Amino acid sequence: MRNNIVAGNWKMNLTFEQALQLANDLNAWATENKPTAKVIIAPTSIYLQAIQEIVDGDFVQVASQDVSNSEKGAYTGDISAEQLDSIGINCAIVGHSERREYQQETDAIIAQKLEQLFNKDITPILCVGEKLEERQAEKHFDVVKSQILNALNPQKAENLTKLVIAYEPVWAIGTGVTASPEQAQEIHAFIRSVLNETYGSEVAENTSILYGGSVNPSNAEELFSQKDIDGGLVGGASLKVEDFSQIIAAFK
Ligand code: PEP
Repeated sequence: MRNNIVAGNWKMNLTFEQALQLANDLNAWATENKPTAKVIIAPTSIYLQAIQEIVDGDFVQVASQDVSNSEKGAYTGDISAEQLDSIGINCAIVGHSERREYQQETDAIIAQKLEQLFNKDITPILCVGEKLEERQAEKHFDVVKSQILNALNPQKAENLTKLVIAYEPVWAIGTGVTASPEQAQEIHAFIRSVLNETYGSEVAENTSILYGGSVNPSNAEELFSQKDIDGGLVGGASLKVEDFSQIIAAFK
């Protein structure tokens, strides 16, 4: 069975002290309230180990925001799946639209990153989503389908049940504009049907599909109550424990 998940992507925010404070506050809230959803936070990579040490892994898991597409060697600045694994990190975001845009990450690079993660048994949160002009041209289904197939077709079949997908329409990220629950459900159901047709019902039913794009405490409950929305990938609202905890608590 797939999990309900609320993941916070902290991006390139927070000083070390602020990050420790936020992790501590969230950990205190989660250990007290025992949320039904799985809670994940993705701080900047240099804080991963310190944060991993202060949270209770039964309630708050720590993820990387990215991983290298290479195994090891002369790749200055990159962080490998093996290095993440060596400090106990078992989840990583891949293919975020900011990396696709600013670091020119292609589907082929993202497929290599997924392979690196699967090789170390690290759960990938694969981000997909269309740009505004693609939605306006009604190409969003085609864009999302090709992002998924290009990333997943090269993978070994047995790894596909370990995947999490985040549908994040680029026009909704950090803009305050959220996809309506109906728009989000429509494309989440489509993603699950693509998984079903291409990789079978076990993959389709086991894959948690998260929605990302201006999720906040007022819209989380309605979004998460949709049949094919299994949680959220949250940017801005994950930086305040009051907001993030309310979003997590949208799963009763
Ligand atoms: C994100 O970047 O993954 C995201 C969803 O950001 P925000 O919640 O700020 O729109």
